[in-house]
Amino acid sequence: MLAAILISAAAMTAIVALRYVAASGIFALITGRVRPGYHARLGPQIRREIGWSFASAAIYGIPAGIVAWGWQEHGWTQIYTGWSDYPLWYLPVSLFVYLFLHDTWFYWTHRLMHRPRWFTLAHGVHHASRPPTAWAAMSFHPIEALTGAIVVPLLVFLVPINVAVLGLVLLTMTVMGVTNHMGWEMFPRALVHSRLGGWLITASHHQLHHEKYRCNYGLYFRFWDRLCGTDRGLSPNA
Ligand SMILES: [Zn+2]
Ligand SMILES: [Zn+2]
Repeated sequence: MLAAILISAAAMTAIVALRYVAASGIFALITGRVRPGYHARLGPQIRREIGWSFASAAIYGIPAGIVAWGWQEHGWTQIYTGWSDYPLWYLPVSLFVYLFLHDTWFYWTHRLMHRPRWFTLAHGVHHASRPPTAWAAMSFHPIEALTGAIVVPLLVFLVPINVAVLGLVLLTMTVMGVTNHMGWEMFPRALVHSRLGGWLITASHHQLHHEKYRCNYGLYFRFWDRLCGTDRGLSPNA
């Protein structure tokens, strides 16, 4: 049994690491085309970003691997595979619920991480990227990585989700984590500056967090930032 758990944890770590290399690699490549020279002189910083990110991959992979094993072997979790196990309207609702709960957890832990003690101890690693690049998506101190790694493995015990929607949650998490750090806005101005855009976090919102530190703490939505008065709008540099 222990061997099976270890194999599952190792496999999940490898998947998270490969997912990171693929997603960050693709967007770093595109950044080289869209913003030539953006990465110039950032070589040593990018190597550090990759190092911290690989450590984070293990921290994300181990709980995910244990939960995946329990799901397969013992039917743990509320992950379901049949399309009609719950009403169809529940599919988009569950996607939104996962993203909103993850965003809520991230906002409040992120604000805590900006307290001087926690910043020195952990979050300073993420902000050592100036400016961040696509490789900074998982560049976190292990303590901070742990706070992020437990969210989805805990949620799958609490909130029912179709396995395909869970895949969509993880895809959103990966793509937004990478693109919000690459230093330029990939979404059209018409969306970013629309009423809907006023509630969504994309690169130009998170870029300002990396420029000013004490604002724009959210992950996917601007709900908490706007409610708590920490939203300072968009960076003109992204
Ligand atoms: Zn960041
Ligand atoms: Zn921060």
